[in-house]
Amino acid sequence: MAKYVAEPFRIKMVEPIRKTTREEREQIIKDANYNMFNIHAEDVYIDLLTDSGTGAMSQEQWGAMMIGDEAYAHSRSYFRFIDSAKDVFGDWAWFQLVHQGRAAEKVLMPLLLDKEQGKDVAISNTFFDTTRGHVMLTGATPIDCVVEEAKDSKLRVPFKGNMDTKRLRELIAEYGDRIGVVVMTITNNSAGGQPVSVANIKETSAICKEHNIPFCIDAARYAENAFFIKRDEAGYQDKTIKEIVREVFSYADYFTMSAKKDAILNMGGLVGVKDPEAPALNGVKANAIVGEGFLTYGGLNGRDIDAFAVGLQEGTDYHYLEYRIGQVEYLAERLDEAGIVYQAPVGGHGLFVDAAAMFPNIPWYEFPGQVLAVELYKEAGIRSCEIGSLLMDHDAEGNPVQSAFEFTRLAIPRRVYTQAHFDVMADALIEIKKRADKYTRGFEIAWEPPVLRHFQVHLKPIE
Ligand SMILES: *Cc1c(COP(=O)(O)O)cnc(C)c1O
Repeated sequence: MAKYVAEPFRIKMVEPIRKTTREEREQIIKDANYNMFNIHAEDVYIDLLTDSGTGAMSQEQWGAMMIGDEAYAHSRSYFRFIDSAKDVFGDWAWFQLVHQGRAAEKVLMPLLLDKEQGKDVAISNTFFDTTRGHVMLTGATPIDCVVEEAKDSKLRVPFKGNMDTKRLRELIAEYGDRIGVVVMTITNNSAGGQPVSVANIKETSAICKEHNIPFCIDAARYAENAFFIKRDEAGYQDKTIKEIVREVFSYADYFTMSAKKDAILNMGGLVGVKDPEAPALNGVKANAIVGEGFLTYGGLNGRDIDAFAVGLQEGTDYHYLEYRIGQVEYLAERLDEAGIVYQAPVGGHGLFVDAAAMFPNIPWYEFPGQVLAVELYKEAGIRSCEIGSLLMDHDAEGNPVQSAFEFTRLAIPRRVYTQAHFDVMADALIEIKKRADKYTRGFEIAWEPPVLRHFQVHLKPIE
């Protein structure tokens, strides 16, 4: 029997969610052109579209908002935030607030990458889409360099998010001085939220130092990654989550962070610069001022900066992390009992169901991951997201591109859903699995925009 780690909190305020009938949902999804982003939130029972900015703030965070200081410069909120950030990440020279993760990338990447200066290559364990976008906006080429184990969804080994350091050395030999930055994404979001070990971060950092390449952490899930290290990496069992976070960040020169994930904010981001003499420090300040706001607020309200200060701390609470990762594991165990395949072992922020395995009769170019997302909505009002060949877009000639996986992602908002909701998710998937052989056709594209099609695409079921 699957085991659920009980919540280390109780509920003080509730947000009603609407139940609908299957008949209503069939009409709603049709009217939405079978695109999950077009469904109105009001028509969703359990919303697993993303874990970004969808967490529930604590009474401490809401309380902190009441003492937010809205002074334009050097507010009290700012100093409370800096104390909290230093406590979590260590003694970095500069923490630049920004409005979200992609803003952090927009501030930092053009300072490290510059085609005219010959810095036109960036390497990562796996670039998150927006990070990849900001690398490409500078004219540079992003190269993913994740370990081979990440590519086998059934292989249960720890730290499938790691950098392939052998390949990294080969890439450095090939591109040399053209490499402007190496980015370590923790946890490795695009590889299914897979963690990265301290040993791998330390080795990557040493390789970067040896070749004088700036090493940057994409830090959205700084705390979940530390939880996996404490649980699975030899020598870390007796360390606290904060001690592990500080060690991990001691190896980096820069970090960018979306605070909408582990810092449990609805909006916010951060850039870190380690060294007071870092060449990019003045550029970070200048880019933040023109694009985000004055240095000490960076596009955020004072009240949100206070909630951020508290959220940074709460994200590192061991009992919270044990419960959070436990939720995903509970769902995974229930799916194991039913023989449903997913990216294993499960990462921190969600579960990626292998829809190609679920629907062996639907070809990839009819988007099995989208078929499962639509069926989950019809079955139980659950909104998930396709991560597969629909997301991949087409190539420059307009040909379909096959993704390595056809996933349906169930992203789990922080501190929002209960065990009963997880049973609704598992029961719905198990019901669909029982009739999965009967699905033979998927979707065709009725209309698509020129780029990032999955947000706006119109789909039509193939009869
Ligand atoms: C969410 C995310 C980002 C982008 O952050 P936003 O706050 O959505 O702009 C960057 N990197 C990773 C790994 C993320 O998960």
